[in-house]
Amino acid sequence: MCLFCKIVNNEIPSNVIAEDENFIAFHDINPKAPVHVLAIPKIHVDSFNEVSGEMMAGMTQFIQKVAVELKLDKSGYRVITNIGEDGGQEVKHLHFHILGGAKLKWEHFSDADTKGHF
Ligand code: AMP
Ligand code: ZN
Repeated sequence: MCLFCKIVNNEIPSNVIAEDENFIAFHDINPKAPVHVLAIPKIHVDSFNEVSGEMMAGMTQFIQKVAVELKLDKSGYRVITNIGEDGGQEVKHLHFHILGGAKLKWEHFSDADTKGHF
C-alpha cells in the first residue's frame, strides 16, 4: 500500500484539514510556503495521467472548498500536480499541492535550455 493510501487508512498520522466521501486534504510534512496542503483522492490513482474527468470534476470542487476554508480564495494561491520523473513526482498517488499565504515566486523550473524545443 502506498504512503498516501496509508494516510487515507489512518495507518500513518496526518494533519487533516478537510475530508469528504471521495477526497482528503492534509498539511504537507515539508511545507514550501506558509500554507502548503495536499489534496488527494481516497482511491489510489497513480498520477494525473490516469485520472478520469469525472474524478477531476469532484477534485476541482474539493480544492475550491479547501481554498475557502484556508482563506486563500481572495488572496490567491497555486495548485500544482507533479507527474512522473520529469515532473518530480515522489509519491505515486495523485496529489495536488495547494500553496499560498504569501506572494509565491515563479522561477527555476529547470536548468535545461528553454529555447527552440518546439
Ligand atoms: P511530490 O514531490 O509532488 O510527489 O510531492 C510529495 C509531497 O508529499 C512532498 O511535498 C512531501 O513533503 C509530502 N509528504 C511526504 N510524506 C508526507 C507525509 N507523511 N505527510 C504529509 N506530506 C508528506
Ligand atoms: Zn495510494
